[in-house]
This record gives sequence, structure tokens and C-alpha cells, in this order.
Amino acid sequence: MIEVSNVVKDYGSLRAVDHISFTVNEGEIVGFLGPNGAGKSTTLKMLTDYLSPTSGTITINGKDMKTDSLKIREWIGYLPEHNPLYEDMTPYDYLRFVADIRNISDKVFNQRIVEVIDECGIKEVINQQIGTLSKGYRQRVGLAQAILHDPKVIVMDEPTTGLDPNQILEIRDVIRRLGEKKTVILSSHIMQEVQAVCDRIIIINKGKIIADDKKEVLQSQLAGKTVLSLELMADTPNFYDFRMIDPTLTIFNESNLKGNIWEVVLEYSNKVDLREKIAHFIAEKGWLILGMQKQERSLEKIFHELTKDGYVAPVVDDKTQYIPQDIPAETMEDTNE
Ligand code: ATP
Repeated sequence: MIEVSNVVKDYGSLRAVDHISFTVNEGEIVGFLGPNGAGKSTTLKMLTDYLSPTSGTITINGKDMKTDSLKIREWIGYLPEHNPLYEDMTPYDYLRFVADIRNISDKVFNQRIVEVIDECGIKEVINQQIGTLSKGYRQRVGLAQAILHDPKVIVMDEPTTGLDPNQILEIRDVIRRLGEKKTVILSSHIMQEVQAVCDRIIIINKGKIIADDKKEVLQSQLAGKTVLSLELMADTPNFYDFRMIDPTLTIFNESNLKGNIWEVVLEYSNKVDLREKIAHFIAEKGWLILGMQKQERSLEKIFHELTKDGYVAPVVDDKTQYIPQDIPAETMEDTNE
């Protein structure tokens, strides 16, 4: 439904978005995740036609943003990062004003306002001055503005930033409910945020997409692994054979510490506990276990590692599936087992 193809955005000499391509299908809730300055807002502004790409194309339902901008804007609702509201208006007056700008007839407005008040939970403040509302209610009013014209796609830039924990949970609920009927694209720099509401996560860093997949796939690729460090005493070992123990098991690293002392790091699905099998296997081989330490990978730490300075984004293929090759050891959390 939404197709972004090879899009670049330069601000003068700064390349904020660097050849990104992705598609979003109808009904998906997609989260753009990246650190500050990654290019999330710039991408969302281009998706909503607030900014034009320097190069590349964006189409929605087969229509090109360059040539069918007005039509496309009818399909999109946008909640920008700094939710601009008129402080001296009430939510009702503000939504009436938005309806006029969008050429919504009185008849449609009278019907939509009832639905929107309900969907965004703003009944009790509908006639209260916006300037006196809590930040949570202000976000709800911003969301009401974004969905008033009943768009197919809702784009939200950091929708929970600055909210307290209760307000965050409430807004997430509203977003989830909206996502049942609409395509939702939101941005965040917080891993838990996108994990909580999105089906699919696109990780962006320094203007490039470095991962794009369903949440569960990313979770299992990036975090759903147990890492077992072994210190072994073995003469002329062939550690390759460890792979016969389980189809999910791979050898992450092996190194000779000195003489016949080895360190071997195995990695396998965290859905199985292979320690007993591994211990038996080692005994059968006649090797000796000097140490065994189990670690879990933390998704958040890996995200931090992927997006911190110095990290070079891998090339992402057409299916934009990123398979981590060499996650540094400090991204693992010790479970002290
Ligand atoms: P944040 O979470 O901090 O909003 P972001 O991921 O949304 O970050 P962008 O706001 O898209 O990132 O910014 C990407 C880069 O482009 C940053 O280096 C930013 O400083 C720069 N940038 C953004 N807007 C402009 C602009 N109007 N003029 C010049 N540079 C800009």
C-alpha cells in the first residue's frame, strides 16, 4: 500500500535519510525505531508530504506523492512530534476548525466528532480550554485531529514522548485500538515503545535502515538466543561436532586460551535448555569442563549496540532482513547462572 523507494533527503550538505526503501501493507502497525537524529522525523515528514525527498519516490495506493499530493493527504492523518495545538481553543472548537480546513461537511463532522471523542477518550475535556489540559489529554486531542477525516493511514512521530507512565499506557491503548482499523506508522527512540504496540519494527540509524522485520522475527534473530560460554580442557578437539546436539546450535566463537585449554562460545535458541546434553556430549568426547556460563541477549542492549556511534550498517537486501553477524560480547547480559 505504501511504497518508499530509494528515498534520500539532504539538508544542505547533511544527508538525513540515505537511500531507504520499504513497503507498508494495509493494516500493519509499523514502528520506526532509532536514536535521536537517526532520520525518523524526516522520514515521517516525507511520508506525510510535509517535506519532499531530494530523490526517490513515495507512492501510496499506487499514487505518486509528487503528482497526487492532495489526494494522498486525504488518506493520511499526521500527529507531528511537537503536537501543535491552539491553547485558547477547546478541543471541540479545534476539531471544528480542523474539519473546516479539511473541507469536512457539517453532516460528516457531526457524525465523526462522536466517534473520535469516543476513540480518543476525550469526552470529559471536550469543552475545556486546551491550554489547561494535561500532556496526556493534549496528545489525545492531537490524535483526534489526526483521525478526524477518517484517514486510511495514521502517522505519529514519538507519540508518547514527555508523558508520564500512566499516560503512556493510555495512549498506547488508543494507538492499539486505532491499529485494529487503520495502518499505523509511528516513531520512537525507545525499544519498549515499539515492542509494546507494533507488529513490525524498522530500525533506522544515521539515515539508513539497518533492520526491518516482524517484531517476533527480530526478537528471535536478535535476542531470542542463549549464549553458553564454556572453558574446556581438550586435546586436539573438533568443536564443530557440537552442532549435532541441536539444529539451533551454532558455534559463536572458539579460541585456544593456552595448551589444551579452550574457550568455546555456543549459541542456541532460548526455547531449549541444552546444558545437560552439552555436558554429556563433552563427557563422551573425553573432554573436561572447567567452566560453564549461560548468558541471555538483551534486545535493548543489542539495539543500543547497533545504533551507537561507530557501528557500520550492514547492507540490507531486498527483503530487508538483517541477520546479525558479529554482536560484540558486551551486548550480552549475564544471568549469573
Ligand atoms: P529525533 O528523535 O531527535 O527527532 P530523528 O530520528 O527524528 O531524531 P531527524 O529529526 O529526522 O531525526 O533528523 C535527522 C538529521 O537531520 C539530524 O542530524 C538533524 O539534526 C537533521 N535535521 C533535521 N531537520 C533539519 C532541518 N530542517 N535542517 C537541517 N538539518 C535538519
